[in-house]
Amino acid sequence: MVLAARFHKAEDILSRLDYSELLGLKKTCSQIQAAQRAILERGVSYMNHCAVVCRGLCCRNMKVMEIISLYDFILLLVMAPEFKYKIAKQVRLARVLHTADCVFLENGRGPCLFPVDLKPERCIASFCFETQLIRRDLIRLRTSFNRLIFSLRWYRWRRFGLVLLKKIGLIRAAAG
Ligand code: SF4
Ligand code: SF4
Repeated sequence: MVLAARFHKAEDILSRLDYSELLGLKKTCSQIQAAQRAILERGVSYMNHCAVVCRGLCCRNMKVMEIISLYDFILLLVMAPEFKYKIAKQVRLARVLHTADCVFLENGRGPCLFPVDLKPERCIASFCFETQLIRRDLIRLRTSFNRLIFSLRWYRWRRFGLVLLKKIGLIRAAAG
């Protein structure tokens, strides 16, 4: 799936949710955001190392499709819908840009266009060194992302189940 298809799938999934599902999703996304904030706060020295010493090598020479997931886009669209057009523009550009660097680097150089506390999971949680200080926050982040994935699957199956039950009811009514 190309990046644009992934982004549109995220939009499509959200457009099918009802009010209570959206509320549930928002709660989980807030937990992801809180975990990201804790990582930024407690892991400030790690972040500085990436930005100042290494100059964000991880944002260069990378495969964006392997880094940014459907759930990262869902997180962004739920928590920061005002970023939708900015990110959508870069997603479209990804089709024509022939660059090894991440398409979400502003003007090709940076900083990253995602909100500071709503980064794709792999961007905020992957380090090439030991990160003992934020070990628990990373676990919290992973758990919250897993909850997000589980919730979306559960909503889909529940909807499917309801349609099936309705059909069975209709068949029984027609037969009886
Ligand atoms: S995780 Fe490692 S390679 Fe990536 S930006 Fe930080 S220091 Fe550089
Ligand atoms: S989304 Fe942002 S943090 Fe992640 S690789 Fe791209 S520029 Fe870097």
